[in-house]
Order: sequence, then C-alpha cells, then structure tokens
Amino acid sequence: MIELRAIQADITTLEVDAIVNAANSSLLGGGGVDGAIHRAAGPELLQACRLLGGCKTGDAKLTRGYKLPASFVIHAVGPVWNGGTMGEPELLASCYRRSLELATAERLTGIAFPGISTGVFGYPVAGAAELAVATVRSFTASTESTLSQVIFCCFSADDLAVYRRLLD
Ligand code: ADP
Repeated sequence: MIELRAIQADITTLEVDAIVNAANSSLLGGGGVDGAIHRAAGPELLQACRLLGGCKTGDAKLTRGYKLPASFVIHAVGPVWNGGTMGEPELLASCYRRSLELATAERLTGIAFPGISTGVFGYPVAGAAELAVATVRSFTASTESTLSQVIFCCFSADDLAVYRRLLD
C-alpha cells in the first residue's frame, strides 16, 4: 500500500529518499524551489547537472542529493502555462510519471514532490494538484513499485488546503 500525504514544508529539509525539483530544461538552476534545492545541496549538484545535457519538458533526470538530507534529487521539467491548450496537462502528468518511474528504477521507498509548474511557470494550482494526485494514484495502482510513501510538499497553507481536499 502506498501512502499519499500532503504537508506544508520547505522541501529541502525533508529526509526522504528523493525530492523532486521543479527544474527548467537547462537543469542549470533557477529561482523558486530550484534555487532553494541548489543552495541546500551545494555546488556539487550543479556540477552533476552540467553532465546531464539538459532535460526535455515532461521528462525528469536523477542526481544524488549531495548536502541535502534527501539521497537523490529528481529534476523534472514542467510546462510553462500557456492557457492550457498547448499540451500542458499531458506534460505535467508526464513529469509526475517519469519521476515515479525513476524512483522505482532506483528502488526508492519515499519521494516528495513540490507543486511543479505552479510557481513562475504559472500553472493554476487547483488543476495542477488534481492532475498530480490523479497521476500518482494511477501510477501506484498500475505499477509494481518499491515506493511506500509519496509526499506532496506544499510551500503555502493555501496549497496545502487544496491537496488536503483532494486526498480526503
Ligand atoms: P516552476 O517554475 O515549475 O513554476 P517554482 O519554483 O517557481 O517552479 O514553483 C513551484 C512550486 O514550488 C510553487 O508552488 C512554489 O511555491 C514552491 N516552492 C518554492 N520554494 C519551495 C521550497 N523551498 N519547498 C517547497 N516548495 C517550494
């Protein structure tokens, strides 16, 4: 049984096997959660990311967590919101799926997601949260996985309320 849980926290503080980064396609760092993760992980994370050659929107790549309490960082590249008709929902769902696939391939037991695309990339939180929860539920129902815990790590109390409603 996989537990889905929403919490309000700074994702860089979580002691889970992997935290997911809302990265951009260069994987060379940015603002928001990306900046926070790079600051907390230290410069070795950027060195590791440089070797990955970027990442397509909707895909994800894995590195170690370096100075983070998390062992791994899964760098997922969410879509920029353009009104919703440019394939944004499919690309966002793909980020969640690819991250879960990478975690499963590494035989991880716990993973924490931020609200991918819901900051600077402008994806509306309600729709993004609904898609995130549905995609994780469908993955866990259809795939044999080592994962036992999936955490939706919300930065704000408002976001947490959205996730709590979906998970109740
Ligand atoms: P994107 O460019 O994919 O929209 P952002 O980093 O701008 O990425 O925002 C994604 C989400 O991460 C937003 O909900 C934002 O509030 C949240 N966020 C920012 N910093 C942190 C953090 N340290 N821990 C968890 N979530 C964070």
